[in-house]
Amino acid sequence: MARKAAFLDRDGTLNDERGLHYVHRVRDFHWIDGAREAIHKLNEAGFLVIVVTNQAGIARGLYTADDVNRLHDAVQKDLEDLGAQVDAFYISPYHVKGIVPEFAVRHEDRKPGTGLFERAMREHDIDPALSFMVGDKASDLIPAEKLGMKTVLVLTGQGENHKETPAADIVVTGIAAAADWIVEHDAS
Ligand SMILES: [Mg+2]
Repeated sequence: MARKAAFLDRDGTLNDERGLHYVHRVRDFHWIDGAREAIHKLNEAGFLVIVVTNQAGIARGLYTADDVNRLHDAVQKDLEDLGAQVDAFYISPYHVKGIVPEFAVRHEDRKPGTGLFERAMREHDIDPALSFMVGDKASDLIPAEKLGMKTVLVLTGQGENHKETPAADIVVTGIAAAADWIVEHDAS
């Protein structure tokens, strides 16, 4: 039977960038209050937790996929203490203005493209009708809406600039409230 999933944006949704762009060092990753507990709540409610993140810094030559994977290992380790986990991370390394030739292309994996979502759905047998996306930008929600998921805009990160987006089913203060809303609207 197809699974339900909670797709989560990373920067501005799980971590507070504090004005930094292109966060890729472990020491620059700062959890938003309640984010770890929110992931735990989604785990406990039976959702696959999938992080989908645009990392244009890879195309721009600022850091590599290995750096991002190392950061995500540290994120996972932080969650372990709580008995929580991210089930999978999906990264888009592309940006059309990049300098690393293989990634300097327009690509459907870069949100608002649907590529990362579709790959996750295939690889984890996810039913979009039972699934949700949480993000701080319209570009996070547009692909999820297109695929038939419910969408939550958080007001952390860039959220204040995107709160009027028609792609949001609901606007909430942050990831903790988003997890509450998702569990309340679980259709499985
Ligand atoms: Mg974001």
